[in-house]
Amino acid sequence: MKPIFLAPLFALAALPLAFGQDQKVTQLAPGVYFWQGDTVIRRPANCTWVIFKDYVLVIDANFPWGAREILPEIRRTTTKPIRFVFNTHYHADHAFGNGIFVEAGATIVSSRESAAESRSKGETDWRNQVFNRGQRPEATDYDKAVAAETRTKGYQLEHPTLLFEDRLVFDDGEHRVELIRVGPGHTIGDSVAYLPKERLLVTGDLCVNWPSGNNTGDRDADPDHWVKALDLLAQWDVKTVVPGHGRVGTTDALRGQREYLADIVVQVRAGLKAGKTADSLVQEIDLSKHQPWGASRASNATSIRAIYRNLSERP
Ligand SMILES: [Zn+2]
Repeated sequence: MKPIFLAPLFALAALPLAFGQDQKVTQLAPGVYFWQGDTVIRRPANCTWVIFKDYVLVIDANFPWGAREILPEIRRTTTKPIRFVFNTHYHADHAFGNGIFVEAGATIVSSRESAAESRSKGETDWRNQVFNRGQRPEATDYDKAVAAETRTKGYQLEHPTLLFEDRLVFDDGEHRVELIRVGPGHTIGDSVAYLPKERLLVTGDLCVNWPSGNNTGDRDADPDHWVKALDLLAQWDVKTVVPGHGRVGTTDALRGQREYLADIVVQVRAGLKAGKTADSLVQEIDLSKHQPWGASRASNATSIRAIYRNLSERP
């Protein structure tokens, strides 16, 4: 951890709201740890790791600056090498930290579809979101600090190299982690990690559990299949749900996310049939009964507009 970039980040972390969420690591089960992301300081995605007999498997890599904070947290729980990092999907906040883990000796794992998305949409996002962040007219001081850090530290975008079609299982007799593709939904390649012994499911962004709705804006999101994927996951033998963002929950989180999403899809589709505009639907559709997903009017409006665009472009 070099102090040059951490100085501005710590300065930001001192903002009053930055302590709104607990950033501490929690143990979910023996050898299974959870680090909760924090939007306020721009490390929004959750991270989970599983300590096998000889190595560590990490689930989701965060942004590079998030990965830098997560690494020492992992080191505090084990001295075993971080051999694998699984990307639930290619989005920036879950995969752009891959390079930090590759430097630390890890191999990046994902579904074949997620890796393809990483090489296409991920490359573009990398240039826009990370490299050029500070050059945007609306750049905040934080964005400028990130851009400066990216240039001086030379973060690299690393794509997944260990790929699976539908399923890949890690099992050393002590732990079993099944990586299973259930997308398309939030993206094309969405995959989850299922730990049958612990009855624990790590969902990526198919399910979130926070008051900021869900990002429905990927151009390849498939809202109908996303709802079906959540129905499928809710039938698995699961006690603990680790969402892509927000608090650890139970299968109630899967059902709540499903209801929020299905409500938007049904109402937007009906609105499209009736010839309504996205603007009027943003005014009409009330998602406040879906808690915590529907708590933010701004996030709801973004989701409604994204699903509107998505469904109007579908045959
Ligand atoms: Zn995402």
